[in-house]
Amino acid sequence: MKKELIQQITLDLARITSVVGTSGEIEVAEKIHDFFKALDYYAEHPEHLELSEIQGDSLGRKNVVALVKGEKGRSRKTVVLIGHMDTVGIGDYGNIKEYATEPEKLKELLRKRDLDEETLRDLESGDWMFGRGIFDMKAGVAAHMALMKKLSENVGELTGNVVFVAVPDEEGNSSGMLAAVDELARLAEIHSLDYIAAVDTDYMAPHFPGDDKKYIYIGTVGKILPFFYIYGKETHVGQAFEGLDANLLAAEILSEIDLNFDLCDVVENEVTVPPISLSMRDLKAEYSVQTVNEAYVYFNYSTHSSQPNDVLAKMKVSAEEAFQNALDKLNHEYERYCQAAGAPYKRLPWEVQVLTFEELYAAVKAEVGDSIDESLEKLKQGLLQDKPDDRVYSLEVVRELHRHWSNKNPAVILFYAPPYYPHIYVKGEDENEKRLLAAVDEAVEQVSAGSPHKFEVKKFYPYISDLSYCSISHKPEAINALVNNMPGWNEIYSLPVESIRKLNVPVVNIGPWGKDAHKFTERVNIPYSFEVMPEILENTVELLLSK
Ligand SMILES: [Zn+2]
Repeated sequence: MKKELIQQITLDLARITSVVGTSGEIEVAEKIHDFFKALDYYAEHPEHLELSEIQGDSLGRKNVVALVKGEKGRSRKTVVLIGHMDTVGIGDYGNIKEYATEPEKLKELLRKRDLDEETLRDLESGDWMFGRGIFDMKAGVAAHMALMKKLSENVGELTGNVVFVAVPDEEGNSSGMLAAVDELARLAEIHSLDYIAAVDTDYMAPHFPGDDKKYIYIGTVGKILPFFYIYGKETHVGQAFEGLDANLLAAEILSEIDLNFDLCDVVENEVTVPPISLSMRDLKAEYSVQTVNEAYVYFNYSTHSSQPNDVLAKMKVSAEEAFQNALDKLNHEYERYCQAAGAPYKRLPWEVQVLTFEELYAAVKAEVGDSIDESLEKLKQGLLQDKPDDRVYSLEVVRELHRHWSNKNPAVILFYAPPYYPHIYVKGEDENEKRLLAAVDEAVEQVSAGSPHKFEVKKFYPYISDLSYCSISHKPEAINALVNNMPGWNEIYSLPVESIRKLNVPVVNIGPWGKDAHKFTERVNIPYSFEVMPEILENTVELLLSK
């Protein structure tokens, strides 16, 4: 592949501002579609190219889907290339934001800024291109496009097939990829395709300052959002020990889970970041001397191996321990207080009570029957009109369910809120996994001979990405734990589980190398990203289809 071509496409794409959630995402899709349309292959095979609308998308965003069918022999084997066209916003560029997507002009303007030494050095070296989205991930999309062009010009030499999907909304809710999964399932039927692997070219960055190793990732990290609704027992501050402060329970849950290394998934020497809270609040609206009766806390939970049922079990144990800690503290302080006040001490009546959403629903349903479904339905209709945040919607459903429960003792209700990104762990268990592991190893080896770069093939792409939706657990207990404990499932959020299971491919990320994704100093390294990385990409695809 010609590095000049990849660089040119990267520039062409980078010049279109395609911030997630804007019409720029459509513009860039059309640009990519035009690129393919101009190729001889798609003039001959217009049915292999689609600009397909994402159903129900209020912005009318589109995926670009391009298929190249090899004509050497008949093979159903098909590699999927994926890339996202959207970028994060440009607000971080401040007063030069209108030049965020004009790489040449931006470079000049950045010279006038107070930059750190490393950025300054890169700026002056001539080896780097700056701009919003240029690294995350227009350079990667460009490599896919150049590869597709080359393949389409040599279909007589190609055994097997390659589908390229360019998607919007990766930095948002992944609506592009989720639609693409359905589309890929449909395409497989029409063209008799067997998907064997998916290759993403999202960005690859140093793991620590000064790290210049080049990483290829086979597999990807996942994430899930465990959410705790905390119901205490209100009291007047004057009778502090007569209640159970929901904030105390929330604090104990936070202290039990936040950054707890025991909750990390360690797989093949690769460790997830520990859970960390994303929001913690009490639900008291006004000032008063009544203590807090309701609170919540939820966590970002990364996975390499834990499935939703595993995480649910671990979170339940953590919440039970936290609850016990709160009760122990309360009783301990109460005893000391009684001693000092000369009052008789009697252990406080509270007991540990942690339920999952599924368990609470069963308990309420057993008490009140079908009327609970009517009450929830009514609440949901109202909520859907207000279009609240997905987390708020989920919480309100749980609160409403809890209101109908006769048990008003302090309790913690554990559930899941959107989004959910499955991890993909490529163990080498089935044929596709073995083939991908071997192909990547060989492709990297071919490039590393005589190369100044040091490569490392790792197991999990560390940034949450669309790659997650290429595969999902086939164990019913894993997905049931998610679906049955996510109050907004199929209402505000769902995943095309069946289509994902049909796609079911191992994944690899072969990314351009750069620095500072999502910062105004975002930049891509020219020699590696337009020459070395595309070669690894091409070799990998070739090896996948030939073995
Ligand atoms: Zn990205």
